[in-house]
Order: sequence, then C-alpha cells, then structure tokens
Amino acid sequence: MKKTALITGASGGIGSAAARALARDGFRLALCYNSDEAGIKRLAKELNKSTDAFTAKVDVSNRAQVDSAFEQAAEEFGGISVLVNCAGISQQKLFTDITEADFDRMMAVTVKGTFNTCQAALPFMINRKRGKIINISSMWGVAGASCEVHYSAAKAAVIGLTKALARELAPSNIQVNCIAPGVIDTKMNSCFSEAELEALKNEVPMGRFGSPEEVAALISYLASEKSDYVTAQVIGIDGGFI
Ligand code: NAP
Repeated sequence: MKKTALITGASGGIGSAAARALARDGFRLALCYNSDEAGIKRLAKELNKSTDAFTAKVDVSNRAQVDSAFEQAAEEFGGISVLVNCAGISQQKLFTDITEADFDRMMAVTVKGTFNTCQAALPFMINRKRGKIINISSMWGVAGASCEVHYSAAKAAVIGLTKALARELAPSNIQVNCIAPGVIDTKMNSCFSEAELEALKNEVPMGRFGSPEEVAALISYLASEKSDYVTAQVIGIDGGFI
C-alpha cells in the first residue's frame, strides 16, 4: 500500500501545512474539514496535482462521521497508515465564565475527537503491524494557561491519551506521539488584538511566533520511518516558551 494519511482539521493553518508536507513526502491524503468547504476544496485541487487526495466533512466529536471518513479511506486507498489530529478549537474566558456547554464542547472536540479518530484508525494499523498517530496538543496542555482552563485541561488529556496509547500499541509497532506547539501564526489566534499579539510575542524567547510550516516539518518527521523508535513523546515547538 502506498503511504496514506488522514488529517483532521486539514482546512486549518497547521493541518493544511501538514497536508502539503505529507503530499511532498508521497502520501495519499484524506483531508478532513469541519466547516470550511471552500478552503478544503482549494487545498484538494492544489494537492491533486501531485498526489491523490479526497475531502470529507467530519466533526471529530461525531463518531459516525469519523467512521465514515475512515470507510471512504479504506475504499479509496485500502486503509490509512498515518493519522494526524489537527482539529481543534480555542476559547479565552475567565474560569468563572466558562459555561458547562463551553466545557463540554471543548472536551468533545479535543478529547473525544482524539479518542474517536484513534479508535477508528487502529484496525488498519494493527492488521499491518505498522502505523503512526500524531496528536496536536499545545504548550498550554503542558504548562496551563490563564483564561484557557478548559483548553489547557483538554490538551493535557490529549497528552495523557497519547502516552498511554503509545505504550499499549508499542508491541504492534504503532508509534503515537504528541506535538505541543507554542503560538503558531494561524487563524486560531485571530481573536487577539494587535496589541495582545505583540505582548504575546514579547514573551517568546525567540521573539516571534512559529509558522504552520515549522510544525508541519515535525509532523513530516513523525510520519516517516526516521522516527520509528520515537513513541510516547510530547515534542515542544514553541521558540523556547516552555
Ligand atoms: P485553525 O487554523 O483554527 O484550524 C483549526 C482546524 O480545526 C480547522 O481545520 C477546523 O475546521 C477544525 N475544526 C474545528 N472544530 C472541529 C470539529 N468539531 N471537528 C473537526 N474539525 C474541527 O487552527 P490551527 O492553529 O491550525 O490549530 C490546529 C491544532 O493546533 C489545534 O488542535 C490547536 O489547538 C493546536 N494548536 C494551535 C496553536 C496555535 O497557536 N495556532 C498552538 C498550540 C496548539 P474548519 O475550519 O473546516 O471548521
């Protein structure tokens, strides 16, 4: 089977950069999006010049939609060898202002979403005794962020899930790792004002934000045979922030 990857959040900044990097690495791609249909169609058109890519609308918190994307991948590609979980949402609120619905949505997309995609991917990987799962957490899942308690808690849960699953799957030669980005220049940070972004930038030892392409380079490494002995790791890419 040619190398195949399913990317959630492929319509986003990090996910689309990951898709371009994996296309260059020779992967066939299942590009999952949630709402940005125009964006994902543009990306698929671009990538279909060099590889096979199909798109699927998947709310990762919905197991039926997740299963259906993997079924399509099985039909079109014969399975999936790499799963990249880039889907995510953010929200800045004082802890006392976070509603039960805010909390439930954060957990549903971030934690249940990761659970859903990992469980749906495994049958393809276990059968072949080969596979890679790359989860995108956050430096805030490691350190905790003020006004992002539910986001930090959900991203910490992704780290716990990654480490535990990696140990369970190591005998099956499936590597599970987590990336913990710092502030990366994507639309996820469009909620901040110019002044807030400048203040945030000044807190980064390297004095700049990361680019989606820099995170994608790490994803490319973790998706490749070069990282076959790397598993259960949380790899920071944050300009020295943490
Ligand atoms: P982004 O550009 O806002 O992209 C977010 C992606 O998640 C989009 O593709 C979006 O799809 C998708 N998404 C949102 N809700 C979803 C759902 N319910 N089901 C499936 N997909 C859903 O943000 P990004 O910066 O690329 O973020 C990618 C990942 O990196 C996220 O997990 C984020 O938490 C993490 N991260 C980002 C930063 C940062 O500073 N940017 C730092 C640390 C960690 P649609 O656009 O199609 O709706």
